[in-house]
Amino acid sequence: MKFGLAGNPNSGKTTLFNSLTGSTAHVGNWPGVTVDKREGTYKYSDEKINIVDLPGIYSLSPYSPEEIVSRNFILDEAPDCIINVVDATNLERNLYLTTQLLEIDIPVVIALNMIDVIKQRGDILNAEDLERTFGVPVVEISALKSDGLRELIKVSVEAAKTKRVGTSVLSESKIATMVEEVTNKLQAENIASPLFHAVKLIENDEFEINAHHEVAVLAKSLKEKMPEDEFEGDYEGIIADARYRFITKYFRKTIAKKDNSNYTKSDKIDKVMTHKLWSIPIFIVIMFVVFHIVFSEDLLFLNALFGLEIKNPGLINFLTGMGYEGILEENEEGMAAALGGIPSLGVFLQSWMGYLTGLLIDLFAGFMPEGTWYTGLICDGILTGLDAIFSFIPQILLLFLFIAILEDSGYMARVAFIMDRAFRKFGLSGKAFIPLLMGFGCSVPAMMATKALEDEKERDLTIRLSPFFSCGAKAPIWAMLAVVVAGSMMGDIFVFSIYLIGIALAIVSATFIKLFSKDKEMPPFIMELPEYHLPQFKSLMLRLWDKFKHFVQKASTIIAASIIVIWFLSNFDWAFWRGMVDITESMLADLGKVLQYIFYPLGFAQGADGWKYSVATITGLIAKEEVVATLANLGITEDTMALSNAAIYSFAIYNLITLPCFAAVSTAKSESSKKGFIVTIIWWLIASYVAAFIIYRLGILLEISIIDGLLGIFVVVAICILLGAIVSLNKKQRA
Ligand code: GDP
Ligand code: MG
Repeated sequence: MKFGLAGNPNSGKTTLFNSLTGSTAHVGNWPGVTVDKREGTYKYSDEKINIVDLPGIYSLSPYSPEEIVSRNFILDEAPDCIINVVDATNLERNLYLTTQLLEIDIPVVIALNMIDVIKQRGDILNAEDLERTFGVPVVEISALKSDGLRELIKVSVEAAKTKRVGTSVLSESKIATMVEEVTNKLQAENIASPLFHAVKLIENDEFEINAHHEVAVLAKSLKEKMPEDEFEGDYEGIIADARYRFITKYFRKTIAKKDNSNYTKSDKIDKVMTHKLWSIPIFIVIMFVVFHIVFSEDLLFLNALFGLEIKNPGLINFLTGMGYEGILEENEEGMAAALGGIPSLGVFLQSWMGYLTGLLIDLFAGFMPEGTWYTGLICDGILTGLDAIFSFIPQILLLFLFIAILEDSGYMARVAFIMDRAFRKFGLSGKAFIPLLMGFGCSVPAMMATKALEDEKERDLTIRLSPFFSCGAKAPIWAMLAVVVAGSMMGDIFVFSIYLIGIALAIVSATFIKLFSKDKEMPPFIMELPEYHLPQFKSLMLRLWDKFKHFVQKASTIIAASIIVIWFLSNFDWAFWRGMVDITESMLADLGKVLQYIFYPLGFAQGADGWKYSVATITGLIAKEEVVATLANLGITEDTMALSNAAIYSFAIYNLITLPCFAAVSTAKSESSKKGFIVTIIWWLIASYVAAFIIYRLGILLEISIIDGLLGIFVVVAICILLGAIVSLNKKQRA
């Protein structure tokens, strides 16, 4: 048997799914779209029941991939029963979808979820109202507390054994006869679920009109006979209105609220958490604490504030996984001398991970013959590259754990709500805020977190912007450059300005992309604020396991392949069969010399050393730390770098927003739509180039040659005017 879980976003489908299927769950993608498909099994007496978690939807119209996926699944894959998960605390809104599901010829069982909340509030819910009016079984459950699940499955199995013919609440509306006539016509043609298709035809649903041309003509002629009303022939509006009328008429009294003046616990918490003034400061503090625990090398600022140092090498070695490089000063024996402050949990785990992978590399290096090409490939290529990626895993998982806790507790829904208004101006909703914020840690989890966004376009855009939020791996680049610019300005101001420029560029990009995209109304922000509650351990662990699997799969395929290619290019020249060469004579060096021409206008690639910077931007694709490592390999350090401040800024900005590392690129690929991904790649390449160019020109203007700088800016302004003209012409034509 196969059951599908259908319902509004946040109605508790995934929670129900997890409670039912546990470890049997398997996450894939629906064919052709980037919507998650979760499948698992539930054992019921001797039978294994397949359970599919459908994406959250508000209606069965064909406007979003989620709606199309759910609709096609129900109509084409013939599940034995649809379990309609309904959030009982938001009954009227949730039942809107129910009225549509009921029109399909398929057994439906209503799972009335969040009963625990209703009970806790002392409200009284009359489930028989629903059962009587809709004529389908209703089971009260709490997905979170695993209450009523066995009963739900039992009732669903019974329902699945019967045949059900669709029913419509429209039979009480003024278009009842129209629906009936169109249904009859479809039925005469042996179409399955004729009632559902009839309603969709009347709504002018494009899929249906293409599929049933003749019947569409009939529907049109019937509409012409209808008297004019306030909807002026908008049948989607008429039908939506009829559904809501029905729902309010029959179910307004289904839930008896105990006492409206009595705030629930959640309402009380929300008075503070979503307060006009406090909400944002509270949020900033919470996020700061999270980032501090995951990324800080000086927990509680003990070193910065009180000068705490740990001088016991044994303890340091233990604390740091024997030599975490970033925070240790080494003495002559290469031994850790002092540790400034205490590393945070994230840094601690990361350094241990680095230590373990380091051991693994040494182990391999130990028994492999020295100096052969395959030793190089395995140790310097694959293992070192994987080390760079795997060392992020502890921090990524820890960050995800915190985010999952905030999500499960119900707080994240509030954050989206708080941020929504500001984000709307840029074509994003409040929900995009968290992924973008996570970009400061690492783009990979940031992009993975876009799954929480319902709109595909918004997901694409958020993924596109996330590398603009300077990630942890880029920090070493800024640190190196800061030393060089420090001569004329404060290094920390430089680093801070890079972060700010990144954010500014994200805003400019979003605005620019919005200009070019079709003027589509943003879907209104509808989202229930779930009750606050303690997160459940099992659900947290399932989420983390999901992420971990995802990451490892990626690291072992596309990323590993890219690492090998770059290793090959940097260790051999064009006559590669003759053996390895120094990186300065490698194919990569030659490539750098070609790229030097392309990067020339950006300033950093000028001069005899220019090709080295070009090469570093390529190896930066493995992991952004590689930029510094490669430059060092090629003899460029803080002391030998001879770039002007303008060129340094340009180099920094270029690396900030060009293609991120392979791990992020491949994550972007799997999380974006096909078209969105292509646009994203182009955007990263072009935006970084243009931004670096402008910054370089501006820098020159300030530093030396006013004429040169002005010339460059003039070119840019001219291009912008041209683009603007094209956009406005385009708009006029459409209007
Ligand atoms: P989905 O979007 O339909 O998959 O919804 P989720 O399963 O992600 O649940 C949304 C929120 O509702 C989460 O914070 C859940 O913990 C919470 N939730 C789900 N079921 C219940 C329930 O039965 N009782 C309570 N109190 N909360 C629930
Ligand atoms: Mg879900």
